[in-house]
Amino acid sequence: MKAAELFDLKGKVALVTGASSGLGTQFAHALAENDAAVALVARRADRLEQLKGRIEAAGGRALAIEGDVTDRASMAHAFDKAESAFGTVTILVNNAGVAHSGRAIDLPEEEWRRVLGTNLDAVFYCAQEAARRMLAARKKGSIVNVASVLGLSAAKGVVAYATAKAGVVQVTKALALELAFKGVRVNAIAPGWFVTEINDAYLMSEAGEKIKRDIPAGRFGREGDLDGALLLLASDAGSYITGTTIVVDGGQVIQIKG
Ligand code: NAD
Repeated sequence: MKAAELFDLKGKVALVTGASSGLGTQFAHALAENDAAVALVARRADRLEQLKGRIEAAGGRALAIEGDVTDRASMAHAFDKAESAFGTVTILVNNAGVAHSGRAIDLPEEEWRRVLGTNLDAVFYCAQEAARRMLAARKKGSIVNVASVLGLSAAKGVVAYATAKAGVVQVTKALALELAFKGVRVNAIAPGWFVTEINDAYLMSEAGEKIKRDIPAGRFGREGDLDGALLLLASDAGSYITGTTIVVDGGQVIQIKG
């Protein structure tokens, strides 16, 4: 089979959380360019409308939906809107996330809760919402959770983030087991460092230069570097892949520095 056919998303309906910037925007473009209809969900409605305009100008189909992943009613509403525009969501990209930095012993409870609430609780609840709807509609589908290399190894100053992302890897496996028999696959992507709003101040600093030198590939991730993993997991090319986490990090996480 030709690659274009294998990875084709025609007839599929995707929902991308946190689509208003960074990796989420790129995920939405990649899905739309391969013919999925894409529901764009985030809190910044103006940004989503602009993205929708760009996708449509390129011949794709998109819908902008203001929503907060930490609010379950808001996400149920987002799925409703996506469904009435395009049909049952069969690809969920659980991408919205927040970061923090600071020593673990100083981390306030509300900060721990904010990061776990967005990066782990919401990932589970959105996956649950998507899976319930796919099962009710008797549709197969693919849930792609965005984890991080910080869910596989740890770094100083990001205890809540690293804990949440490790949880995402585990939620991915546990959900995959329960949903495989219904044809709903659940996988994760663990990106290394990509310069986005979540980290640009840090990565553009001197500390960022050092991080970059330590990445075996010698550079940060670039726009499009995650497209291959996303399309593999979202499309029928990945039809026998479930419960896995694909690391896309230029070799960062396999390295022990001696
Ligand atoms: P980003 O800040 O550009 O994107 C995160 C998006 O999530 C933003 O659009 C933000 O508004 C949205 N968001 C946050 N809280 C939300 C909420 N409650 N409801 C709805 N939307 C919300 O950063 P990014 O790098 O594009 O991050 C995307 C994902 O990739 C995150 O899960 C992040 O943890 C993960 N990640 C990023 C990197 C990296 O180096 N950039 C590395 C590994 C993992």
